[in-house]
Amino acid sequence: MNKGKLFVISGPSGAGKSTVIGRLIKQINNVYFSVSATTREPRRGEREGKDYFFVSRECFEKMIKENKLLEYAQYVGNYYGTPAEAVDKKLNEGFDVVLDIETKGAAQVMERRPDAIGIFLFPGSYEILRQRLMLRSTESPESIEKRMQQAYVECSKAEMYKYIIINDRVETAVDEVIAIITAEK
Ligand code: 5GP
Repeated sequence: MNKGKLFVISGPSGAGKSTVIGRLIKQINNVYFSVSATTREPRRGEREGKDYFFVSRECFEKMIKENKLLEYAQYVGNYYGTPAEAVDKKLNEGFDVVLDIETKGAAQVMERRPDAIGIFLFPGSYEILRQRLMLRSTESPESIEKRMQQAYVECSKAEMYKYIIINDRVETAVDEVIAIITAEK
């Protein structure tokens, strides 16, 4: 059986990554979304084991020590990381695996797995990004400001990715990601 392919999707918080990934896994078969571990508090509506594994700092640091993470990074005061075992298991079973991770973690993945395919999702504009973060209503004004600052840093790393998509219309962005996955396979 052929091994699956690893896709790394990044883009600033509020660029629509979760929406795009949520739709694409419903539209194409054989794709597994890698559920990350994080120390951040769950947002309203987020589910354990589906959106994230919500863990304590202590637990996260244990995973780092035990080498259980394919990559990890700190983002706006919290740890985020990709559990390695599930990713490898799914790839070996022939599934394509999609990671939704920020740029520091993406750089680690691309170094460790040079065959990983990077896709960067831009928001239509920084103004749209700010509006999306505000509309979320789960983010404090302080968190919105920090996420906006991170957005400028992250967008400056977009050249590290093989593909760049501008998400000014979600349906088009989903179609474009599906086209990339199909072409890469
Ligand atoms: P949020 O708090 O909005 O869910 O995520 C914040 C940022 O962390 C997003 O850019 C998201 O892509 C990133 N992220 C989520 N999971 C991981 C992970 O496992 N590793 C890394 N490096 N970043 C992650």
